[in-house]
Amino acid sequence: MNTLEAIKALPKVELHVHTLGSLQPSTLLSIIKEDGINSPYRTIEDIIQRFQFTDFTQFIEVYAEIVGYISDEKHFEPIIFDMLKKCSECNTHYVEASFSPRDHLQHNLEFSRMVDAINKGIDRARKTFGIETNIRIDLVRNSTQDEAMEVLDYIAKNPHNIVSVDIGGNEGKFPPKPFAEVYERAHKMGLHLVAHAGEAAGPQSIWDAIQFLKVERIGHGVTARNDPKLIEYLKEKQICLEMSPIGNLRTGVVKSIQDHPIREFYDKGLLVTVNSDDPSLFHTDLNNEYIQIHEHLGFSILELFQLSMNGIETAFIDEVSKTELRESFSSEYRQIMDQLE
Ligand SMILES: [Zn+2]
Repeated sequence: MNTLEAIKALPKVELHVHTLGSLQPSTLLSIIKEDGINSPYRTIEDIIQRFQFTDFTQFIEVYAEIVGYISDEKHFEPIIFDMLKKCSECNTHYVEASFSPRDHLQHNLEFSRMVDAINKGIDRARKTFGIETNIRIDLVRNSTQDEAMEVLDYIAKNPHNIVSVDIGGNEGKFPPKPFAEVYERAHKMGLHLVAHAGEAAGPQSIWDAIQFLKVERIGHGVTARNDPKLIEYLKEKQICLEMSPIGNLRTGVVKSIQDHPIREFYDKGLLVTVNSDDPSLFHTDLNNEYIQIHEHLGFSILELFQLSMNGIETAFIDEVSKTELRESFSSEYRQIMDQLE
């Protein structure tokens, strides 16, 4: 086994991956055809072409367009199954799949039916690939407080496999503070708390997510690099940063992989993890993320394995499951190292 094969074989955890951002062009085309939806796309290549963009605003536009094509709750079953199939191809054992119901409620889909379809896909993937998956709900920061509260009402009625809330969306225009009450209620409901922050906005956005939303993990957190006090704080409190180097490159958050702060954060002792975010839109997967930071940021196989272990550390699962995962990851790691040439 050579180094690249060893990296691919490493056991992995995926804590930050968007269900719709994982939508395969082929799955989208079949949905469009099946539902007889009017679209400019005739071939898979047309869709691949559309999945190219150079900045964050454009990315949000493409994402909104995809949302518009999902016209039936049942489509979430194959969407999540296909996503988890891709995850298992990277030897990912545990996934927290991000789902943004608000986007689809606007198109008159029902929350419970969507979650049921997602759970069907999760069950089928568990049986087929042995992969464990929980759901994190993205309340979408562009929503009003009432809209976010409505989603919490829905979660209360159908909480199956839902472990946390998050806010994604347009970070530059919609700061965290108005979601304080929503997060307080989510916490009381027993949900874990995460927010996208420090991706499209500066370090203040991260501070606000910590202060007002009391988050346990930060999605991205790239711009923490501009604030030494924040770096110290994140280290001291061991607040996890769910980092996605390739996604940050595609949306122009970093100029190059070499410019990504994950190396600096790791070396300073921050609790960082690697994730694929929107793998289909960013033309990446977890294997590619690991390989890129190995090649361009010098992460050794042991360090990459440590990133996988960080994922277990901060996963929203019980201690028994964590112990089991740690043991199986360590044994897989030893086998890989034994086979490494
Ligand atoms: Zn994200």
